[in-house]
Amino acid sequence: MCKNENGPKGAAAELPSIEISIRVARFRLGEEVHPDLKNVIELQQADLKVAELTKQIESLPAQIQSLQSRLNEFIHAQEERKKRLAANQHERKGLDGEIKVIQEKIARHKDQLYQVKTNEQFRAMTKEIEGEEAKVRAIEDEILEKMLEAEEIQQHVQEATTRLQGEEARVAAEITRLESERKADDDERVRLQALRNQIQDGLSESTRNLYQRIRQARRGLAVAEVREGLCMACNVLLRPQVYNDVRTNEVLLTCENCGRIIHYVEPAPAQTGESNGQGAEATA
Ligand SMILES: [Zn+2]
Repeated sequence: MCKNENGPKGAAAELPSIEISIRVARFRLGEEVHPDLKNVIELQQADLKVAELTKQIESLPAQIQSLQSRLNEFIHAQEERKKRLAANQHERKGLDGEIKVIQEKIARHKDQLYQVKTNEQFRAMTKEIEGEEAKVRAIEDEILEKMLEAEEIQQHVQEATTRLQGEEARVAAEITRLESERKADDDERVRLQALRNQIQDGLSESTRNLYQRIRQARRGLAVAEVREGLCMACNVLLRPQVYNDVRTNEVLLTCENCGRIIHYVEPAPAQTGESNGQGAEATA
C-alpha cells in the first residue's frame, strides 16, 4: 500500500520505514526539523565562533609584539646611522688635528730654511717640506671624502626621521585598533557564551552529552553537514538508508564513519532555469 502525501497519518505510520523516509524527504523536506538538531546546529555555530574569537584574542599579544619589534628595528637602524655620523665627525676632527700638527711642523721647517748653511741642507729641508705638504693634501682629500659621506648619512638620518615619525604614528594607531577589536571580540565572546549556554540548556540530556562527547573527541567539530550524500566533515558517503533519513532532518543521526551529528543541507538550486520564472528569465 502506498498512500499519497495527503493520506491519513495512521496509514503513513504503517508503511515500512524506508518508504516513510522517502516520502518525508520528498514532500516535507525541512518543514519539521528535529528541535534538538536545530539547537545543536546553532550550538555548534556559536561554539565555532567562540573558538574563532578566542583564537583572535589570543593572537593579539603576538601581533602587537611583531608591530613593536618592526618599529624597534627601524629605531635601531636610525641609531646606527646616527652613530656612524658621530664617528665620521670624530674622524674628521682627528684628521683636522693631524693637519694642524703637520702644518706646525712645516712652519718650523720654513723658519729653519733661513738657518741652513749649505745648499744640500736647503734642498733636503725643502724636500721634507714638500713631503709634509703632500701629506696635508692627502689628509684634506680624506676629509673631503668624509664630508661627502657625512652629508649622505645626514640626509638618510633626516629621511628616516620623517619615516620613523610616520611609522610610530602608524604602529600606535594599529595597536589602538587591535585593542579596540579585542574589546569588541571579548564582548562578542561573552554574548555568544551566554547564548550557547542557553541553547545547551534547551537540549535533551542525551543530545547534550552526545554533543559534548563528540566535540571533545573531534576537536570542537561535533556537527557536520551532509551534501549530496556525503558527510562534509569526513567526506565519506552515507548509506542510502541513512541518507534518506538525514534528508528529513527530523531525526538526530550521527555519521557512521566519523560519529558526528549530521544534518542535511539542500543543494543550491541548479541554474537550469526550469524551476521557476526567475531562473528562466535569468537564462533567457
Ligand atoms: Zn562523517
